[in-house]
Amino acid sequence: MSCENLSVRDADYLIALFKCGGEAGLTDVCRALKVAKPTVSLMMKKLNTAGLVKKVNNKYALTFLGNKIVKEIVWRHTVTEWMLVKSGLNVREACEVARRIELYIPLKSLKKIWIALGEPMKCPCGYESSGDNGTCRPVHN
Ligand SMILES: [Zn+2]
Repeated sequence: MSCENLSVRDADYLIALFKCGGEAGLTDVCRALKVAKPTVSLMMKKLNTAGLVKKVNNKYALTFLGNKIVKEIVWRHTVTEWMLVKSGLNVREACEVARRIELYIPLKSLKKIWIALGEPMKCPCGYESSGDNGTCRPVHN
């Protein structure tokens, strides 16, 4: 399992959990993503099968692998967003476009872009690309 196997939607769910502190109840995820409970349950089952999410008591939590993948998504978002900002998009537009393409750029190519950009550790919005202080990556539709 790597970022390149995820859909934008899968990533939204992982980021939603991350933004809730790594675990969240069904209702919290519904609220974060503005979707109905059956949709969330189904998606969580899928992410559980993929080894990215586990059920702890009544909550969904990121697994070790899930956490690792989230960190990569956040880093990918940072690099892709900078690439687009440097190409003339404003930050808001860059953020939205980055969300749509960040998962599909081969890691090797993205690392080259990251180096060419001066190895930024913060996204244009000021979030750390390590993901430790959150992410600007939107979790909504
Ligand atoms: Zn962003």
